Amino acid sequence: MCASILKRHKQILPFYPMFMWVVVILLDSKAQQTELEWISSPPGGWEEISGLDENYTPIRTYQVCQVMEPNQNNWLRTSWIEKGDAQRIFVELKFTLRDCNSLPGVVGTCKETFNLYYQETDSEVGRNIRENQYVKIDTIAADESFTQGDLGERKMKLNTEVRIIGPLSRRGFYLAFQDVGACIALVSVKVYYKKCWSIIENLATFPDTVTGSEFSSLVEVEGMCVSDAEEEADNAPKMHCSAEGEWLVPIGKCICKAGFHQKGDACEPCGRGFYKSSSQDLQCSRCPAHSYNDREGLWRCDCEDGYYRAHSDPPSVACTRPPSAPQNLVYNINQTTVSLEWSPPADMGGRNDVTYRIMCRRCSWEPEECVPCGGNVGYSPQQAELVDTYVNVVDLLAHANYTFEVEAVNGVSDLSRTQRLFAAVSVATSQAAPSQVSEVIRERVQQRSVQLSWQEPEQPNGVITEYEIKYYEKDQKDRIYSTVKSRSTSATVNNLKPSTAYVFQIRAFTTAGYGTYGPRLEITTKEEASGTTSTIVSSEQNPVIIIAVVAVAGTIILVFMVFGFIIGRRHCGYSKADQEGDEELYFQFKFPGTKTYIDPETYEDPNRAVHQFAKELDASCIKIERVIGAGEFGEVCSGRMKLPGKRDTSVAIKTLKVGYSEKQRRDFLCEASIMGQFDHPNVVHLEGVVTRGKPVMIVIEYMENGSLDAFLRKHDGQFTVIQLVGMLRGIAAGMRYLSDMGYVHRDLAARNILVNSNLVCKVSDFGLSRVIDDDPEAVYTTTGGKIPVRWTAMEAIQYRKFTSASDVWSYGIVMWEVMSYGERPYWDMSNQDVIKAIEEGYRLPAPMDCPPGLHQLMLDCWQKDRADRPKFDQIVGILDKMIRNPNTLKTPLGTCTRPISPLLDQSTPDFTTFRSVGEWLEAIKMERYQDNFTAEGYSSLESVARMSIEDVMSLGITLVGHQKKIMSNIQTMRAQMLNLHGTGIQV
Ligand code: AMP
Repeated sequence: MCASILKRHKQILPFYPMFMWVVVILLDSKAQQTELEWISSPPGGWEEISGLDENYTPIRTYQVCQVMEPNQNNWLRTSWIEKGDAQRIFVELKFTLRDCNSLPGVVGTCKETFNLYYQETDSEVGRNIRENQYVKIDTIAADESFTQGDLGERKMKLNTEVRIIGPLSRRGFYLAFQDVGACIALVSVKVYYKKCWSIIENLATFPDTVTGSEFSSLVEVEGMCVSDAEEEADNAPKMHCSAEGEWLVPIGKCICKAGFHQKGDACEPCGRGFYKSSSQDLQCSRCPAHSYNDREGLWRCDCEDGYYRAHSDPPSVACTRPPSAPQNLVYNINQTTVSLEWSPPADMGGRNDVTYRIMCRRCSWEPEECVPCGGNVGYSPQQAELVDTYVNVVDLLAHANYTFEVEAVNGVSDLSRTQRLFAAVSVATSQAAPSQVSEVIRERVQQRSVQLSWQEPEQPNGVITEYEIKYYEKDQKDRIYSTVKSRSTSATVNNLKPSTAYVFQIRAFTTAGYGTYGPRLEITTKEEASGTTSTIVSSEQNPVIIIAVVAVAGTIILVFMVFGFIIGRRHCGYSKADQEGDEELYFQFKFPGTKTYIDPETYEDPNRAVHQFAKELDASCIKIERVIGAGEFGEVCSGRMKLPGKRDTSVAIKTLKVGYSEKQRRDFLCEASIMGQFDHPNVVHLEGVVTRGKPVMIVIEYMENGSLDAFLRKHDGQFTVIQLVGMLRGIAAGMRYLSDMGYVHRDLAARNILVNSNLVCKVSDFGLSRVIDDDPEAVYTTTGGKIPVRWTAMEAIQYRKFTSASDVWSYGIVMWEVMSYGERPYWDMSNQDVIKAIEEGYRLPAPMDCPPGLHQLMLDCWQKDRADRPKFDQIVGILDKMIRNPNTLKTPLGTCTRPISPLLDQSTPDFTTFRSVGEWLEAIKMERYQDNFTAEGYSSLESVARMSIEDVMSLGITLVGHQKKIMSNIQTMRAQMLNLHGTGIQV
């Protein structure tokens, strides 16, 4: 009976449009058709009475109306209500209540309220009502009470009250109504709780959820993805069920799996011909090119036959295929090196990751008998994964047959089972000299002999008939060397000097010629034991003996001359040149009558050197006027000097800053000791020094226009060529004087030339010409020491070989500085790049408006071999000639002498040796453009010489490097023509 009453059913009530809530009814007295049979106590109190509701539907009610008697206490208890999941229970009461005022004679006994109680139990308990076990919920009063008349109208004034109970901890409970003397009819009692109703939100299903116990509590519920959906990464779907049964705060979501897309609250498979590769994608996409699918719900499409997808290819890209074979494979053989070049395949397979791999096979002279080349062969840049379309295969065997296959591969080549497509060539290498002898072992080192053994070169490239051992004294460099030959892989070199460092290098010989020398091996012979006599040198083993004898004889003469000169001139000091031993005659042999420079550092007492070469001035004769520059040791000032009996003159005064050390003082005065030895109109003149007072001063002739580089920059373009050449002539004359004195400047640069008011240039800056610490251009090189790289000859940078010939190189740079009005040599190239470019044979191009003859002189100063450079004497002669014949200084009309290429290839050939444009192009390695020249009608060298850069470009030569190379050679050709014919060619 009770079970039928308690049977729960759902009643759906609309709430928010999005969220649905559910009420679960635990008890509804109105729905009960049969008797309720609640417990009433005491008898005569509450009575169950059947009635009709406002809709004339039969209902069960309980009524009590003991208003006449005082002290009423009538209890009515419901049947036991199982609470189920409920935590928060709603009790809705509908009742009518009689107005006491409408009842006569009940004053004091009639009440207009009743009390509502509940009792929690785990199961039904007995029929006795124990009042003290009930918990009061509330006193219920009627909003409206009725009178007799109302009843007559059958219009009940129905009151509805709702109370909430909870949280409940037992399985069920009873409700009880306590009447204390009112006239009540309980028309309906409804008990229910609320649920959030199951819902699909963001492709996740949230189940029916009972609300929490407190008004404010939210129940967190995890959603379950609908089929073919999955939780979004780190974003699991959740919602919150409120106490009122509403779904609140949706978080996270589910998304349709790969191969499915969303339709409403469900995921549907992608159709045929479509795919969806990831759950992240919203829509299904059509299959990409060369792929298909004939089923629904796929995450990718299959490739058509012959097409593939690389492992790294996403499903969204088209299926691709291996490339076709490379095209136009050509080769070039240089002894044992084969260069291969090809064009990309016609069909790249639809991909842009094509690379190339080389297969090398060595073949016997019989066809078809080929074996892989193996690991001894080298590939540059590499054998496989070549991005560019060329490779050099090196270290091949000489006189051998090879086949090379060049295959183009892309990301799907390895997936394809179709036949490899490649381009192939068969090549026969030519004769080649043996490779280097690199492993040399010192077997025995004696005082006068060294025994060596070595391994045959890795690639003999033929039968080695002989080895050549080259050796020389380390100090001599390889200017004078000897050779010994051996048929085996060992040899003893005799007739060496004891305790001397020698350098040995070995090379092998075959019918193809000598290989290159192996690395240098340095060995020092043992010390001579006392009493040993020297062995006679055998001329057979020492082919340079005759040269050595000549050198010795020369040296004796030299020593004699120099010694005689020094004895005659000074008591102390010696020539620095003498120290340099067998250096070139060019600056070694001094002739009687020429003063020789004496290095002040060779003086034991440097103060003596100063006073030997510089006049001590009285400080009172010097008046400092203003600061004009900053020197390494202190300020440089201009001022006046008035010596007794002489005219007042302008001077420059170099001062030594206060607080100097003794060494600084010495170094400072060193400049005066050097300068004081010189007396030449193009070398800055020392007036004297002030050492006996403070500040210590060096007084020099005043050069009104300051240093040459700044002066030229200030007057850019303002001088005639003759004026500029005049300046250069002066500098060359100063340098001729210094080199004749055996003085090597080491830091000749425009910044170290001073200019006076008559534009006379004078060489200066001698102070630390050996150290160059104060030159901001000087940088440390790998050979140690600081070097002004841009001004310095290669041999001086590489092994500190500073000579007058290296000064000539620097002079060439000064010429360039002068002709370009103080432009920085090599512009903004780095020192490292300058060194590299010079080593590769490149040289500065002619500055703007520079007569070709002057540029030629610069190029001569920059000859690699220092013996090939002109001497200062010759330079002065050439410049004098130019000044005498100003015509030679004319720049050819229309010559674009503004540098087109930053550097000019020094190997520019002499055009007079060529008979045709083709020959000339071949010589400058530009023969590939022969057809371009012919097509445009440039058939004679004369017509080529007239070409401008635009003409060169219009030939269809697109590579800038090639344009520049051709243009610079055209310029040189033009200059050479000018020299030949004496007039400019008209363009
Ligand atoms: P130095 O220490 O010799 O490099 O001199 C520093 C600067 O002082 C130079 O760059 C010149 O500008 C200036 N200077 C040096 N000597 C003279 C001089 N004799 N006449 C005029 N200016 C000079």
